[in-house]
Amino acid sequence: MTLCLNLHHCTGSREIGGPHIEISETLRCQPFFQVQENDYKRFNGLISNVCDERFSATKVFEPPEINTCWRVKDSQILCPGTRTDVHDLVVSIPVILGIEVGDETAGRNRHRGAKRQHWYFPETITPDSEEVAIDFDLIYDLVGFVLVNTQGTHFIARYATHDRTKIYTYDGMRHNGYPVHSLEMTFDTHMAGKKPKIPKGFIIWEAIYSLRGGLTAQEKFYQIRIKKYAAQYNLGGDPRQTSYCVVSPSWLPGDGQEGSCVAVTARAKRNYRIYL
Ligand SMILES: [Zn+2]
Repeated sequence: MTLCLNLHHCTGSREIGGPHIEISETLRCQPFFQVQENDYKRFNGLISNVCDERFSATKVFEPPEINTCWRVKDSQILCPGTRTDVHDLVVSIPVILGIEVGDETAGRNRHRGAKRQHWYFPETITPDSEEVAIDFDLIYDLVGFVLVNTQGTHFIARYATHDRTKIYTYDGMRHNGYPVHSLEMTFDTHMAGKKPKIPKGFIIWEAIYSLRGGLTAQEKFYQIRIKKYAAQYNLGGDPRQTSYCVVSPSWLPGDGQEGSCVAVTARAKRNYRIYL
């Protein structure tokens, strides 16, 4: 499951020691990764572009509806800084990644001609740098598709063997529910690329990727991102302890401000507890 973090950033002022950051909620679990219909144009139909943004560790701060600091008491704004937000910073990634491009009605891809969406699914996705991808197998491999008929009433599957030499199609209502291997199918023609050959009358609902390095790579990603976000957003921590502590220096007790500390009390839970 993907775990994400939201941050609020404030430019602060000289009086309070510069910018400060607020983490106001626990890590959010995102069980589904759904790509929207209007994303097709924005990302030029390339899932690699979608993933570049999805896994980016340097997301652009989004302008919030209210750009004043959250430090307010009795309706009085205590800090003159300007607030910006950054959402969905990915902290932990799943071993099996599903990317949904269909919707419940399958109506999105009933279009014909130019309106039809043919997402290009890359053979691999690197959620972090090329260096760690090579060193730690932090690479997602395309392993299969969930397909749905254009009426949205029947799901089937297409998948490749680990060495990509055999392609299977599974339809629970055909061949007594056994997956069928076809000699004519290849990974290049029936899995990868912009228009892989899929059974007539079906569209791609979801692509399935598998993390090559498994749980070890997942843990590596987590460690990299905790370290990266700590440096990037002026947060600090003590990885020697089972509880990971994150503090914003300008909010440390002793500087005249209230202390703000966010800690993971049990890292296995991947869950932040907030102390204010
Ligand atoms: Zn502020």
